[in-house]
Amino acid sequence: MSQWPIGVFTSVDAGLGVRLDVVEELKIPTVQIHAPHQATRTEAAAQEFLKKCQSSGIEVTCVFGGFEGESYASIAESARTVGLVPLETRAARAQEMKEIADFAKLLGVSTVALHIGFVPEDRNGDNYKGLLEVTRDLLDHIKQNGQQLNLETGQESADHLLEFISDVERDNLFINFDPANMILYGTGDPIEALKKVGHLVRSIHCKDGTWAPEADRGTAWGCEVALGQGDVGMETYLRTLKEIGYTGPLTIEREIPEDREKQKADVGAAVSLLEELRSNIL
Ligand code: MG
Repeated sequence: MSQWPIGVFTSVDAGLGVRLDVVEELKIPTVQIHAPHQATRTEAAAQEFLKKCQSSGIEVTCVFGGFEGESYASIAESARTVGLVPLETRAARAQEMKEIADFAKLLGVSTVALHIGFVPEDRNGDNYKGLLEVTRDLLDHIKQNGQQLNLETGQESADHLLEFISDVERDNLFINFDPANMILYGTGDPIEALKKVGHLVRSIHCKDGTWAPEADRGTAWGCEVALGQGDVGMETYLRTLKEIGYTGPLTIEREIPEDREKQKADVGAAVSLLEELRSNIL
């Protein structure tokens, strides 16, 4: 794979990504996919999806886990419902994430990723310790598959994410860096954050967003916008990726499944923007 191939976040039957036909049409060479629903996570479905990808020359670089009952309606709702943090669903979702990783293995994919949820702040609390345990168990399972887990950024500060990864004490836990999420959740300047966590970044999203008004930051969402139109600063972002030595895919994420036409147009424009920046920077 050449350095910085363009990628896009896709969905088969669950999640907010673009459909595979859009990827084909825009001739994008790599994809991350949102894990399909349980009924579709079969050997046959994996083979069918792989065949489609191979005939279009598309490489799957990462499978993202997601769960029924997660809601991103507000930051507070996300904190309550997302990932492995909520106690009521923790065990079941950890089990499901193992199954998603096994499905990724059927696709020949060695990286799985997820929003683990809002990592509890108190490192001595039971909730935090329980999250460490369930994460270790998941990592040990996926290690047997020859896989690593990349945590999506944004729901906690870069410093706290580093503390958590260090406390987990496993060698197959890394980061999927999403600069827009740092802005949308109000958890920190994305470029500063990227410099801090750069040594652990193994995959990334190219997504953009604008900050919520300062008084609401961290409690009200910022706004996700088309790439290049937000507060990330795409050129600085890519230059910083180069600085930290990141060479993997530039995976575009545009989370407006309610408007497929605009989603496709925005992804197309994002491809052009990234190709232009890439040729200037590399
Ligand atoms: Mg993302």
